[in-house]
Amino acid sequence: MIDTNSLIINAVSEPITKEDNVELIFQQLEADLKNSDIPGVGLAAVQIGILKRASIIRTPSSTLNLWNPIVVSQDGEVISPEGCLSLPGVHRSVRRAKEITIQNGDGRTYMAEGLDAIVLQHEIDHMNGITIVDKNYATLKIGRNKLCPCKSGRKFKKCHIDKELELQQLLVQSSQDAV
Ligand SMILES: [Zn+2]
Ligand SMILES: [Zn+2]
Repeated sequence: MIDTNSLIINAVSEPITKEDNVELIFQQLEADLKNSDIPGVGLAAVQIGILKRASIIRTPSSTLNLWNPIVVSQDGEVISPEGCLSLPGVHRSVRRAKEITIQNGDGRTYMAEGLDAIVLQHEIDHMNGITIVDKNYATLKIGRNKLCPCKSGRKFKKCHIDKELELQQLLVQSSQDAV
């Protein structure tokens, strides 16, 4: 079960070793993600009380079982509105790399961008005991005369310019990607 009141959420997970049944952990993650009340696109072992570096990613474009990942390279920067299955109702905009390349536990290399890159970084953060509340609110950089991202059709300066927190909440609620 996904533990939403977890005392170990900030603990650093241990590497998967030969003694671990990683397939069993993936099966448990898969079942718990399916049973989650909030739809999610990824789940890390620490979120179900297992302090091991394993996680599943289930986005529209990727199905990946991640274990002992090593970050090979990162590039670019995006402001990402995120939720977390371990922290219901909490939303944060966090700074993420736009692209990331990782090496998985089986030695294979994956390059990800867009939502997949965000989810990968969110999951690796979980393995290191880091959640979205441990990250600073990122400031949205929007031109005063650009259209407001809330889709009101008004310019930013006439809309959410002084209400950034409210705007970030709106953007996260519309994104629906909890991980
Ligand atoms: Zn999370
Ligand atoms: Zn607005």
